[in-house]
Amino acid sequence: MSETQADTQAAGSPPALVVSGVSHSFGEKRVLDNVSVTVPRGTFAVLLGLNGAGKSTLFSLITRLYDNVSGEIRILGHDVRRRPGAALQRLGVVFQSKTVDSDLSLQQNLLYHAALHGLGRSEAKKRAAEALAIVDLSDRAKDKVRNLSGGQSRRVEIARSLMHQPGCLLLDEPTVGLDIGSRESVISIVRGLVARQGLGVLWATHLIDEIQPTDLIVLLHKGKVLFSGRLPEFLASTGAATPADAFRLLTGTSATAEAA
Ligand code: ADP
Ligand code: MG
Repeated sequence: MSETQADTQAAGSPPALVVSGVSHSFGEKRVLDNVSVTVPRGTFAVLLGLNGAGKSTLFSLITRLYDNVSGEIRILGHDVRRRPGAALQRLGVVFQSKTVDSDLSLQQNLLYHAALHGLGRSEAKKRAAEALAIVDLSDRAKDKVRNLSGGQSRRVEIARSLMHQPGCLLLDEPTVGLDIGSRESVISIVRGLVARQGLGVLWATHLIDEIQPTDLIVLLHKGKVLFSGRLPEFLASTGAATPADAFRLLTGTSATAEAA
C-alpha cells in the first residue's frame, strides 16, 4: 500500500483538503476574500461559481502556482507552504486548460507524469494500465492524444492525475465544451473515484445542474464563500425549491445550467 493510500484509509485522519481564511489580490483587486473550504475524504464537493468568481485563483493557490500569503491550505494534513513536497504529492489536478501532449500517446503522457513523480518504469506501466482502465480508455493506450475526442482527452487528464495515487483531486471546469454524453461520462468516472476509492474531490463548475443531492456545495461569489453545506441546507437557508433558485437568492444573479 502506498503512503498516500495508507493515509487515505487511516481512521480519524485529516480531511482531504482544508482551506482556511485564504485571501488573494491581483494588484488592488481582491479576488478571494477570507475563503474557507473543507473537503472530507470520500466527498464530492462542488465549487460553484460564475465566471470570475475566483475558482481558478483558488486552485492556483492550492497547487502553489501562487503563494498563499494569508490563511492556511492543507492537503491530507500537510501544509502547502511548510511541506509543499508532502502536500503536492497527495494532490491530483485537472486544470481548466488542456495540458496533455497531443503528439504523445496516452500511455506516454501517463509515463512521463509518473517519471516526474519518481516512479520506476514497471510500476509506472502498471499504474498507467490501471488508470486507463478506470477512465475506460485501455484500448487506446498506444494512440496519440490528438486522435481523441474532447471528452476522451479529459479522461486522459483524469487518468494522469491518478498516477501518483493522490488522496485529493481538484478539477477545474472539466466538462466545459463537452457534449452531454462526454460530460456524463467524465462526471460519473470522478464520482466513482469518490465512492470506490474514498478520494476527496473539489470540482469547480459554473453549471448548477452538476450538483447531486449527496454533494457538498461550496458557493463562491465575487471571491467570497456565501454558502458551504449540503443541498437540503442550501435550499432551507433560502427557502428555495430548487438549487437554481437558491443560487439566485444568495447571489442576486441567475445560475447557468448548461454549457453554452
Ligand atoms: P473563475 O475561475 O471563477 O472564472 P478566476 O479565478 O479566473 O475566476 O478570476 C477571478 C477574478 O480574478 C476575475 O475577476 C479575473 O479577471 C481576475 N484574475 C484572474 N487571474 C488574474 C491575473 N493573473 N491578473 C489579474 N486579474 C486576474
Ligand atoms: Mg476558472
